[in-house]
Amino acid sequence: METKITTDFETAKERHKKLTAEIEEHNYAYYVLDNPMVEDWEYDKLMQELYSLEKAYPSLITPFSPSQRVGGAAESSFEKVQHSVQMGSLQDVFDFEEVKDFDSKVRAVLSNPHLYIVEPKIDGLSVSLEYRDGLFVRGSTRGDGFIGEDITENLRTIKSIPMKLKKPLPFIEVRGEVYMPRKSFEKLIQKQEIDGEQPAKNPRNAAAGSLRQKDSRVTAERELDIFIFNIQQSEGTELHSHKDSLEFMRELGFKVIDGYEAFTDIEKAIEKINSIGEKRGKLPYDIDGAVIKVDDFKDRSVLGATAKVPKWAVAFKYPPEEKETILNKIEINVGRTGALTPVAVFDPISLTGTTVSRATLHNQDIISQLDVRPGDRIIERKAGEI
Ligand code: NAD
Repeated sequence: METKITTDFETAKERHKKLTAEIEEHNYAYYVLDNPMVEDWEYDKLMQELYSLEKAYPSLITPFSPSQRVGGAAESSFEKVQHSVQMGSLQDVFDFEEVKDFDSKVRAVLSNPHLYIVEPKIDGLSVSLEYRDGLFVRGSTRGDGFIGEDITENLRTIKSIPMKLKKPLPFIEVRGEVYMPRKSFEKLIQKQEIDGEQPAKNPRNAAAGSLRQKDSRVTAERELDIFIFNIQQSEGTELHSHKDSLEFMRELGFKVIDGYEAFTDIEKAIEKINSIGEKRGKLPYDIDGAVIKVDDFKDRSVLGATAKVPKWAVAFKYPPEEKETILNKIEINVGRTGALTPVAVFDPISLTGTTVSRATLHNQDIISQLDVRPGDRIIERKAGEI
């Protein structure tokens, strides 16, 4: 018995070490280079495995574990900004049972009835915007949640960020998600292809790269946009709930997160998460989930937070979109270097808003392994390449 535990722990420790190195590499590619090597769902799977190892063997948790970190470090070329209110992350959940678990935990702590707000989770990057006497004075990235980068000049190029608020509050700091609309993304990758540059992987990474430009004229060309979803801190106003603060921010002139709704019942909240998910392909921007938040600020402070995430909210992540279609033929593409690549040509389908009818089959080995032939029913999944 003793040996078994030791062996298991040793195996777990070994796996944890490997996972940590792999995740660190992905974090670097995603947060620093804005050029991920894997899709988010693949990354999330690695993180889930890491979490479950740490749950089984808590001694594996160190301050250096990827589970204890928020986002990426602030890049050195921009001035650092110390966030006076931490810009935390969210606990991810992947199925409705986990949403119900979250609800049970909330109800175990709160004695009074409470409201949930469900809102779309925009797949962009988090920024803080500060206003003094109603004027935009500073904008920064989340960084590691405590220290971000000053990107004020680049944020000024986003037209939906007000430079002047409709009410001159002494001070307010809001948090929002900068994103690249799908249309702007399509335009950008077309241009990058023509210019012989490596095209951006997805709108989120294109947005991150655009915000980190040293020349804000480049950022301006990228047609970024923003949704504001939180008040970090404010003076001269008193708000008691998330819903009130969203309405208040709208009155101030902010472009506030769209399509949120309040619920008392978790089943209804789950229906809303479902309906947001069903419509996600039709939105002009990418979302990667839905966030469910306890509305009342007093309730939130009773529930509290861990070092990284609040206990009053969870983010439901949608699975990668898959569609069934019919394979029409396999074509052979000849690359610039003369390399031959087989390509599947199928009845067009729409995946996360983009119409696709071709996908690489990489090489003959993969074709033989899958034994795919024209006329077969195939399932397509968007994963970098389709
Ligand atoms: P997260 O994306 O899971 O959730 C927190 C973030 O959600 C907040 O920072 C905020 O910016 C954003 N958000 C959007 N809409 C919101 C709303 N309505 N309310 C509250 N927050 C909202 O956490 P994270 O720490 O930013 O990063 C993890 C994400 O990055 C995961 O999706 C992961 O898959 C991805 N990632 C991918 C790779 C890769 O290699 N592909 C590497 C690292 C991270």
